[in-house]
Amino acid sequence: MIKKCDKPGCTKAGTCRAPKSRDLKDYWFFCQEHAAEYNKNWNYYADMSPEEIEADWERQTFGEPLKDTNSANSDATNYAKFINDFITGRSKFDKIPAKTKLPTNVTSALKIFDLGISATWRDVGTKYRALAKKYHPDTATDKQNAATEFARISAAYDILKKHFGKK
Ligand SMILES: [Zn+2]
Repeated sequence: MIKKCDKPGCTKAGTCRAPKSRDLKDYWFFCQEHAAEYNKNWNYYADMSPEEIEADWERQTFGEPLKDTNSANSDATNYAKFINDFITGRSKFDKIPAKTKLPTNVTSALKIFDLGISATWRDVGTKYRALAKKYHPDTATDKQNAATEFARISAAYDILKKHFGKK
């Protein structure tokens, strides 16, 4: 279930998470627009409790403009950056899991086809057809070497077939 944006009166989905305070124990869930607004006004909200922030939002809904502050202390600036990273997904707290390492037999098989780890099943197919043609025991001139190569290519192809979930 998607939470609604925490900004009073907003009916959009709260898909952006932002810390309520410096201790990072609790979070607001905002829509993109209000997450950006919260980030922009961090200097203003930095030393307020979540309750005070909410009270302020209530006042805003009655039309009172945001108090103008010039509190440019670097701590708050750093924190604003931190929150921005949070919202944009660059924060270490929201780290995207590292790409899982490929099994050794798969990387070896890709190597046989002279392909990198980002190769697609289509790339494998193209390479396989070219090499199979080159080393097919029926057509190759060096029959001894061709049989060995052909077996090697076939084995690699089977590994990759399984890896890409093909039958
Ligand atoms: Zn909102």
